[in-house]
Amino acid sequence: MTTVAADSQHDVVVIGAGLAGLRASIHLAQAGYGVVLVEAGDAVGGRQRTDAVDGFLLDRGFQVLNPAYPAVRRWAEVRTLGLRSFPAGVQVRRERGLVAIADPLRHPTSVPASLRSGLITPRGVAGLARWLTPALIAPRRAGRGSDRAARDGWDRAGFSGPLRDEVLEPFLSGVIADDRFETSDAFVRMLVRLFALGSPGLPERGIQALPTQLATIARGLSVDIRLGHSVRRLSATAGAVEVHVAGADTLRAGAVIVAVSPEASAELTGRPGPATRGLQTWWFQADAPPTASGMLAVDGRRRGPIVNTAVISHTAPTYAPPGQHLIEATCLLPGGDRAAPDERAVRAHLNEIWGTDAGAWRILRRDDIPHALPAQLPPLRARAPRVSPGVYVAGDHCDTASIQGALVSGDRAARAVIADLSG
Ligand SMILES: Cc1cc2nc3c(=O)[nH]c(=O)nc-3n(C[C@H](O)[C@H](O)[C@H](O)COP(=O)(O)OP(=O)(O)OC[C@H]3O[C@@H](n4cnc5c(N)ncnc54)[C@H](O)[C@@H]3O)c2cc1C
Repeated sequence: MTTVAADSQHDVVVIGAGLAGLRASIHLAQAGYGVVLVEAGDAVGGRQRTDAVDGFLLDRGFQVLNPAYPAVRRWAEVRTLGLRSFPAGVQVRRERGLVAIADPLRHPTSVPASLRSGLITPRGVAGLARWLTPALIAPRRAGRGSDRAARDGWDRAGFSGPLRDEVLEPFLSGVIADDRFETSDAFVRMLVRLFALGSPGLPERGIQALPTQLATIARGLSVDIRLGHSVRRLSATAGAVEVHVAGADTLRAGAVIVAVSPEASAELTGRPGPATRGLQTWWFQADAPPTASGMLAVDGRRRGPIVNTAVISHTAPTYAPPGQHLIEATCLLPGGDRAAPDERAVRAHLNEIWGTDAGAWRILRRDDIPHALPAQLPPLRARAPRVSPGVYVAGDHCDTASIQGALVSGDRAARAVIADLSG
């Protein structure tokens, strides 16, 4: 290890204080390296940010934390996040009304209603089991085998019927931001397996509580986190990499980890990243909730832009002031010149799904996030962290498009740096 005294020369500079950059910084600091973490934004978190708006907590785009992610179990202290878990089930709008199916083990009293929903058929259950079982019994092997688009995986397993068309497809389209199901089958199986094993929820102080916790751990290890520092470019010098920061001194380091979002990564590293997919979340305040359930609702008939909607304050009461309700509605955000869903279409679809009049609900905010997730096309493969001498890359786009993938990729990049600097 080489520790250098001058302020502008450091062991490692990490760019981007999202989950990947934070995890990389913690690993490096724990190994004894001096780390400067530079972040363009005014706070840590990247795509995991939360704002207080009129007494509500609004995440920048609806997302959930699954405590079953191995990386979260290993590197975060979920216990202190006050995670509020969603009920393990989904409400589905069908022609004849809103029905619910739930995990029979976690909600045994829901079994009769699930069976009455008309969504569960012997053929559908058998197909789902054929598709998912390999991932349940041998997850590592299932992730390593040949891969294909998720829709082809379901076809191959003979998975069809209402359980696929009206439940899994509408639900997953919001999770992977892909309604054509071109996404890697191995990745989707991993997600569904972890949904089955875990109880996804929201930290009581908002999704940003996770990166904030990691930042506290990092600062405790003397990681120097510099907010409002936007990196313009990197350049190579003898034995070091220079990091050019807008309006601030240039930093020099033995190694630099570029842990920025997928679309920004190519600009700094020259290595093209994957395409990205967009999501749009509408946050509404309502005096009266449309349901007593905290379950996510989807439209099995897919007659509008919303891929999921939920009364967030039923699950996480801290997200709304007492006596008020926070409702989210998430849509896919199309790329290119295709128009984003508008208020009229979203309100009309909310009326359809909930069977209520959403006209009086007040819009608190609309989040359009064009680069919400990297496209996770098959085959599922991690990208190597080494880009050029002294330059490494991390982020969810280097592993899987998820909290799990971001954390794992940051850790992997840190290990590569340590191997090279100590070698
Ligand atoms: C709406 C939405 C819903 C989601 N839902 C889920 C979900 O339910 N479950 C799940 O597992 N995952 C979900 N995700 C994905 C998850 O949030 C991301 O995978 C993860 O947060 C990515 O972390 P990251 O560190 O790779 O990148 P980012 O969070 O994008 O962090 C990159 C950081 O780099 C900074 N940066 C960029 N350029 C520069 C520069 N030039 N100089 C300095 N800093 C720079 C950015 O400001 C940012 O802070 C969702 C994401 C979104 C947006």
